[in-house]
Amino acid sequence: MTDRSAAVVLPPLRDVIARHGLAASKALGQNFLLDGQLLDRIARVPGPLDGQRVYEVGPGPGGLTRALLKAGATVVAVERDRRCVPALAELADAYPGRLTVIDDDALAVDEAALAGPGAHIVSNLPYNVGTALLVRWLTAEPWPPFWASLTLMFQKEVAERIVARTDTPAYGRLSVLAQFRSIATLAFPVHRSAFVPPPKVTSAIVHLVPAVQPAGVAMRTLEQVTAAAFGQRRKMLRQSLKGVPGAVDALDMLGIDPTRRAETLPVSEFAALAGVLDGG
Ligand code: SAM
Repeated sequence: MTDRSAAVVLPPLRDVIARHGLAASKALGQNFLLDGQLLDRIARVPGPLDGQRVYEVGPGPGGLTRALLKAGATVVAVERDRRCVPALAELADAYPGRLTVIDDDALAVDEAALAGPGAHIVSNLPYNVGTALLVRWLTAEPWPPFWASLTLMFQKEVAERIVARTDTPAYGRLSVLAQFRSIATLAFPVHRSAFVPPPKVTSAIVHLVPAVQPAGVAMRTLEQVTAAAFGQRRKMLRQSLKGVPGAVDALDMLGIDPTRRAETLPVSEFAALAGVLDGG
């Protein structure tokens, strides 16, 4: 049996980066985190990880991966940058049987099979693919999904959209999708100076756990309604929803004032609208 609490001594991340020539690539969205305390704090967000499975996208030189392993997790990590693989192999040697590195594009792999049921997804996401991955995880079928929680780094503006409430400028399609499918919270902001090299913007960690779905609401319908409503967010619903067959009548059936605008509708009303359109 492996002793998960045994102290593992690793070389400083800066040395690993220098030794393996891992100069950050802008094209791959590389902004590395080297502060061990911050990395440990991120690894605590999903809750105790001892004996848990974690799926990590973009381990890079392995800073967050180290924190996850130290917390006792077994990690499957998908990294597109071949240059990182030897550095990650050293980390895998230091934690026998606990780290599997997949040298591939996270958008192309069968992540449910790689991660396994009940895995926590933890990632300092590459910003250029972050929203695409989040939408994929939130629209996963069947529901509840293969993942137990998502702990993800985003640009602060995107993080704010995910957790935004009605009647705020940040509230939109992503807010409705995230809050329909999950309980989403902003864990903490991360200042740009924490990254090497520092990005232009502040970041934030978001934590999401799957929500129970109301019966009779198809994701596709919900997305169709929110796309139309927020596509013309300044217009009244009776105008913005004109292109969705039956939607204006559904507003009437539900007693939703058709002169309201998209950003005033809470997730529950969007779900009710989609439910009526789906014949519920
Ligand atoms: N986890 C490391 C950290 O916290 O220091 C690196 C984070 S860096 C913001 C994003 C990482 O994702 C980079 O290592 C980059 O090579 C990797 N990456 C970018 N696009 C990817 C993709 N499509 N699939 C897998 N990894 C990707």
